[in-house]
Amino acid sequence: MDQLQLDGMPRRLFVCTPSKLSTFADCPQRYRMTYLDRPALPKGPPWAHNSLGTSVHGALRAWWDEPLARRTPTRAAHLLRLGWMTDGWRDPDQSVRWRERAAEMVGRYVATLDPAREPKAVERQVAARTERLALSGRVDRLDDRDGELVVVDYKTGRRPLTDDDARASQALALYALAVSRTLRRPCWRVELHHVPTGDVAVAEHDEASLGRQLSRAEALADDIERAGERLRAGVGPDQAFPPQPGPLCSWCDYRRHCPQGRAAAPDRHPWEAVAGDEAE
Ligand code: SF4
Repeated sequence: MDQLQLDGMPRRLFVCTPSKLSTFADCPQRYRMTYLDRPALPKGPPWAHNSLGTSVHGALRAWWDEPLARRTPTRAAHLLRLGWMTDGWRDPDQSVRWRERAAEMVGRYVATLDPAREPKAVERQVAARTERLALSGRVDRLDDRDGELVVVDYKTGRRPLTDDDARASQALALYALAVSRTLRRPCWRVELHHVPTGDVAVAEHDEASLGRQLSRAEALADDIERAGERLRAGVGPDQAFPPQPGPLCSWCDYRRHCPQGRAAAPDRHPWEAVAGDEAE
C-alpha cells in the first residue's frame, strides 16, 4: 500500500530489483549510467565471466525441465554445451576449453542433487510491496524441503563463499521476503550454491534480520531518490551521483566513460575474471 506523506499525497513506491539497489550501493555513478542516462551510454565489450554465469544458469534451468529419467550429469553437461555463450573469450580455443570445464562443473554439481526432488520453482519471478518499495526479482531456484521454502542462488565466481556471505546478502534476504509475500508462506532459509565447488553457504533468517535488510533497502531507495532530485535541481551529475572508484572498476561496463574508475583499477582482458592465469 502506498505510504501517505504529511501533505496527504500518496508517496510513490520505488520500483526496484535487488540488483538495482546494489548497483547504487556499490557506485552511485554507475547507477546513474545504468538506469538514468538516456540515450544509454555504450557499454564496454562483453565479459567472459558473464557468459560463463549465464551459460551455467541456463543449463541448470534446462536440466530441471528434463523428464526425470534424463536428469543425469551427462545431460547437464550436454545442455551446457548446447547453450554455451562464446562472448568475451580470448579466442575459440579458450572458449572451448572453458566450455568443457563448465560442462564438467555442472555435471559434478547436479550429481550432488536428487533429481526426483522437484523444486518448487526454477527461475521464478517474485515480487513484494512494502511501504516504500515495489520489489521484484527472479529466484534461481526455490526448494520446498519438507514444508520449508528455501531460496537457492547459483554462483559461478572463483571466490569461495561463506555462510557470512549468505547472511549479509541483501539480494537473498529480499528474495526471501518476496517469496513469502508471493506464495503467502514464510521463507527464512537462503543458500548460495557455488557451482564450481558444490559448496553451499547457508543463512537462516528471522523476522528481525529480514526487517533489518528491508530497512537498509528502503534507506537506499531514499538515497537514490534524493540523488535524483538533486540532479533534476541542477546539481552536477558527478556530485549528485558521485563515482565510487575501487578495484571493481576493472570490471565496470562504463569505465571508458569514467576517468576516476580508470585511475583506480587497471584495464583487464574480458576473460581475466575467469581465466586470469591465461591472460597474455
Ligand atoms: S568505473 Fe568505477 S567509479 Fe566509474 S562508474 Fe564504474 S564502478 Fe563507478
